Amino acid sequence: MKKNRLFLPLGLALFVFSLASGFYFVWQEQGLSLDSQEANEEVFETPLLSRTTDRIRSGETLSQALARHDLSQQDASDVIAALGKELNLKLIRAGDVFVIEKNLGYAQAQLPFSLFELIRQETYGIPVRYRVVRPEQGGLEIARIDTPVIQKRSMLSGKISSSLYEGILSAGGDAGLVNRFSELFGWQLDFYREAQKGDVFKVIVESRYAEGRLVGYGRVLAAEYNNSGKIYRGFHFESPDNKVSGFFDERGQSIEKGFLKAPMALTRITSRYGQRFHPVLRRQKKHNGVDYGAPTGTPFWSIADGVVLEARYSPTAGRMIRIRHRGGYVTEYFHSSRIASGIRPGASVRQKQIIGYVGTTGRSTGPHLHFGMMLNKNYVDPSRQRFPAGQPLPSRFVNSYFTQIKPLLEELKKIGVS
Ligand SMILES: [Zn+2]
Repeated sequence: MKKNRLFLPLGLALFVFSLASGFYFVWQEQGLSLDSQEANEEVFETPLLSRTTDRIRSGETLSQALARHDLSQQDASDVIAALGKELNLKLIRAGDVFVIEKNLGYAQAQLPFSLFELIRQETYGIPVRYRVVRPEQGGLEIARIDTPVIQKRSMLSGKISSSLYEGILSAGGDAGLVNRFSELFGWQLDFYREAQKGDVFKVIVESRYAEGRLVGYGRVLAAEYNNSGKIYRGFHFESPDNKVSGFFDERGQSIEKGFLKAPMALTRITSRYGQRFHPVLRRQKKHNGVDYGAPTGTPFWSIADGVVLEARYSPTAGRMIRIRHRGGYVTEYFHSSRIASGIRPGASVRQKQIIGYVGTTGRSTGPHLHFGMMLNKNYVDPSRQRFPAGQPLPSRFVNSYFTQIKPLLEELKKIGVS
């Protein structure tokens, strides 16, 4: 039975080993959970510091938030005074993040803070840190720390299925980009009326990134819109002397013309308000204009430079404005809630000057702007008018313009649209 004698100690050894390893595992698990608890409290390499991150609660003032974190009254008022040097304290909002670091090496109940930081989302949602520190020589120091913003170039494109707005948003753009795109082609197209299903938009735009996150779009560098086969293009150009700045087409003509196609921002138009059957008169009515549904108070502008002919109240048109322009054109704007100040007969207006605000005065069933256009005293369809081309680029910039747009044009042509 030599074998048994050999197995006994071996078995014992195995038993002891398994016990020990079991204990070891238990011990390690406890160690792990201890670690993760410590991680929640954010203990840093300096054991004498505690660091807490929190948000300003709704209805809470900064000093209340500081009191909630046991800052002494003196510390709290010092922090607020220091912050006030860099930041308008009225801008502090519920949800703003703050960080407090305290020295643990003191025996008092209200530990002195060593750092306070308020982190606010400012322009384009980019975080800005307001850091208050207590240097060794005493007093408090405040610094504004901006998050570095990296500028890149983005390309967006898509096919219109319902509206330009929805198309640009679903391609990753934002409302601001919709505005800039529709404004850019504001002399060529009224996107509200003329955008067609299947139209294609392409845009090359500056995009801004902070902490790896897209925080917004900057200038549009190049844009293209294919409106049922007719292609419009615009390229941004700024002359080195800053005297010329704007969008030009492939031939170097400004895309800005004397007449805009629409009297208000595309993103403000909420609905089609077309009614051929006049509900008040209860009969079919010839409709001499375009109706733009928009909330009461939405500003609208004159589509061209001109002189005010009429600005008054009429029982049918409500508060209405008529403007005479060059070339025999007159435009009219009805049903406004308010006429802008200074808009009276004889007053000169510039293109895109705000002349009034949407309403539902006169014979109207809801807030909208009725916009009409006459040419030599006959109503015409604004979208069918061919207005004179814009100014050409000054000849001294033509070469640098074409050199600059060549790669952009190639990029636009390359952008695929699914
Ligand atoms: Zn109308």
